Amino acid sequence: MTHILHRSTRETFETALSGEGSWLTLKAGGRVLDAAGGAAVTCIGHGNRRVASALAEQATRLTYVHTAFFTSEPAEALADLLTDDGHFARAFLVSSGSEAMESALKMALQYHVECGAPERTRFIARRQSYHGNTFGALSVSGHTGRRSIYEPVLWDTVSHVSPCFPYHEQGTQEDDDAYVARLAQELEDEIVRVGPNTVAAFVAETIVGATSGCATASPGYFAAMRAVCDRHGVLMIGDEIMCGMGRSGKRHAWEYENYRPDIQTVAKGLGGGYVPIGAMLINDRVHDALAAGSGAFVHGHTYQAHPLAARGALEVQRIIREEKLVERVATNADPLRTRLVEALGNRHSVGDIRGRGYFLGVEFLADPEARIPYSSEAGFSARLKAAALSEGLALYPNGGTIDGRTGDHVIVAPPFNATEDELDYIAEKLSVAVAKVEAAVQ
Ligand code: PLP
Repeated sequence: MTHILHRSTRETFETALSGEGSWLTLKAGGRVLDAAGGAAVTCIGHGNRRVASALAEQATRLTYVHTAFFTSEPAEALADLLTDDGHFARAFLVSSGSEAMESALKMALQYHVECGAPERTRFIARRQSYHGNTFGALSVSGHTGRRSIYEPVLWDTVSHVSPCFPYHEQGTQEDDDAYVARLAQELEDEIVRVGPNTVAAFVAETIVGATSGCATASPGYFAAMRAVCDRHGVLMIGDEIMCGMGRSGKRHAWEYENYRPDIQTVAKGLGGGYVPIGAMLINDRVHDALAAGSGAFVHGHTYQAHPLAARGALEVQRIIREEKLVERVATNADPLRTRLVEALGNRHSVGDIRGRGYFLGVEFLADPEARIPYSSEAGFSARLKAAALSEGLALYPNGGTIDGRTGDHVIVAPPFNATEDELDYIAEKLSVAVAKVEAAVQ
């Protein structure tokens, strides 16, 4: 009997004993290929000796200082690395994705205070989105399941517009330009409806992860949103907690989009699972307003810019650079997608395979032709998770109804340094698991 409060008091969870590369060894016996890096986290795989040594060395050198009094070398070096492409002016280091999102929301509010517009207190986010489980982050999330019991206390200063989800929401007669124009108009209308001078920021995941199985935006979408936001003095917060830090095949997923957010959040791939860490990145516009104004971000945590966490993330990022792993993702992205397309070609439940880089989603439908989902009761994704595990494959599944849309999908997000054989294994075992589930839910 254990005293840990698991995510579910009903489910049992296998104990993972150790990890090596893409593989986890289970206490019950056997190995599982961690094909989703947990939740798009373990970008350089498990058990990396170089990261372990860096952490050990840092642990005896300096593990903690409070940022009200001191800075530390690893934190400074990590912030420099995160900003050395010139896109952002400063990095604010925290311990998780949700903390990064809270920081981003607060920074947006404070930006407008510094600019003399304290009445800009509203956020516009999108349906079927997930930005974290703390109250601010959950308030902007459109994940109804995670919101439901907290709904009464979530912010009433947030509204949600349509996501850009072409597979489901683009009209059959509507081309990309018309679809994007419709979404831009919806954002414009919402800003006007709530009062243009009251909106602080528009919040969006560049590639939508947990709620939508790696839905990428239509061409021109983010640039069109940017134009609307700029017209109304609204900041853009880009959530790249799941899709960022190289997982898309570029450092930032927005680099595909001809747009750049004012404030960006990153987390999972930043520390690669070796340390709990996240970051908020701010551009010159935001930093200059802060520096010219009060000069002090009115926010902080005891463990922000934690030296040990920063050192771990720094080593992960150095390895990614030295081994050219983002370039490897870019090169191998199409072959990975092709593997999935070929392996799942005979599976009648496969509706769509989408995403970018090593951040691919497979959506399953009862009737792909008519885009009819499985019922929530069928539990397709939960079954698939179990079937895949029994085949030695760990995936990131999502199912049920989220903000009005019912669907089942899994995320495939292997480590950037997974071998060709491992990518073959993922496709093969996923196909076997899907066949089993299809037979079970007939
Ligand atoms: N934003 C996105 C897009 C996420 O996928 C997540 C986590 O799944 C979060 C924010 C929250 O991050 P964390 O779980 O580290 O608090």
